[in-house]
Amino acid sequence: MFDKFKDECGVFGIFGHPEAANMTYLGLYALQHRGQESAGISASDGQQVRISREMGYVADIFDGGTLAKLPGPLAIGHVRYSTAGESKLLNAQPILIDCAHGQIALCHNGNIVNARELRDELVQQGSIFQSNSDTEVILHLYARSKARSIDDAIVESVAQVQGAFSLVMLTRDRLIAVRDPHGFRPLALGRLNDAWVVCSETCAMDLIGATYERDVEPGEVLIISANGVRSIKPFPPAQLAHCIFEHVYFARPDSYVFGRSVNEVRTELGRVLAREKPVDADVVVPVPDSGVCAAMGFAEQAGVPLRMGQIRNHYVGRTFIQPQASIRHFGVKVKLNPVRSVLNGKRVILVDDSLVRGTTSQKIVRMVRAAGAKEVHVRISCPPTISPCFYGVDTPRKSDLIAATHTLDEIQKYIGADSVGYLSLEGLMSAVGTRRTSYCSSCYTGQYPVAFPRNEAAYLQLALKLDTDAVKT
Ligand code: SF4
Repeated sequence: MFDKFKDECGVFGIFGHPEAANMTYLGLYALQHRGQESAGISASDGQQVRISREMGYVADIFDGGTLAKLPGPLAIGHVRYSTAGESKLLNAQPILIDCAHGQIALCHNGNIVNARELRDELVQQGSIFQSNSDTEVILHLYARSKARSIDDAIVESVAQVQGAFSLVMLTRDRLIAVRDPHGFRPLALGRLNDAWVVCSETCAMDLIGATYERDVEPGEVLIISANGVRSIKPFPPAQLAHCIFEHVYFARPDSYVFGRSVNEVRTELGRVLAREKPVDADVVVPVPDSGVCAAMGFAEQAGVPLRMGQIRNHYVGRTFIQPQASIRHFGVKVKLNPVRSVLNGKRVILVDDSLVRGTTSQKIVRMVRAAGAKEVHVRISCPPTISPCFYGVDTPRKSDLIAATHTLDEIQKYIGADSVGYLSLEGLMSAVGTRRTSYCSSCYTGQYPVAFPRNEAAYLQLALKLDTDAVKT
């Protein structure tokens, strides 16, 4: 409904807790913002790995009865928004297989850019795939590995994939966490008394009372078993490429990702934006919820009061019954309502975290004007989005990204604002800290840190959109 990049996936794992499946359920609950299409949990009691996965929200899928069928002190879980592969139960995760090395379940956040090539090779060698998800190739590589130990087979299989992958895996007696050498997606390691926890964002640790220890390092394979924690670094050194969009939009502001507080970074984005794109106005209004932190920073820097000029209805389900008589902009109105007392007669600075197609911004600007605003100045706390993502984020085609096809003046006219101002790339980088080269910013630059084998760009775009006619990249 909103014009945003779509979150990718969230992963969680725990080793050594008597209620591992319950803790995983809570962890996934905290990570629900990273994927709302399906969720699943696998648990092991040391003898057998069991699984439960369904389409829908975590709270709707799991109840006491379902969790009771997942006994044992080890568990992993996943929330999914489909990036590569269609949205259907077959593609939900974890994926569980039984092979010569024994049972293994896998959850993946990211996108494997050489999945198509690997899949073609595996199919030629006789592999039969159950899903069209890129993740399944890792399990086929694992199953075919001739390595003598489980640990070696895992290392051998993950060493063959390229792209973005934060993985958690579960065998009968091990929890394994893997992060690609570029560190695209976050993956944090923590403790809950004697148990070990790995998860996409630290907000999942907060909910269960776990303590953050450190990030799983880019290029690190962590194998947690009764023998302790073993760290292996099987990948050659690579340029870091943390997804900067985690800080701009994806991650929850109460999380720490890539070693930084998301709230602090996001607020700083607003401060820098206010310095770069100042404008005389009476009130700063965030587009809720994701624009709130940046709006706070903007208001603080600009010395302009912050007011909640739009209220978001948090209780809108995934579908709702539209009235037969058409209501203009119903889809936005049902989620956002303007506060006339805040907006009427005011010069408004509307702060949002991104502007992708421009369609929602156009409706919001109209809504704010209809509530009496004299002027509407749109400020975006990231640079113009000009290129799609191939590292695990669902983005529109390049031709649908308004900043890739329109000038700033055209964008301003299209959304009907009195002015539009984006944060500069330098401003964005200054807000995340000094290690500028550590971040991927491809959606703002079109420069991709990991190349796509063969015509992988077109393949991935096809997988993302499932729209063969529209592939132009
Ligand atoms: S292209 Fe954009 S969304 Fe994708 S990984 Fe890079 S910064 Fe993140």
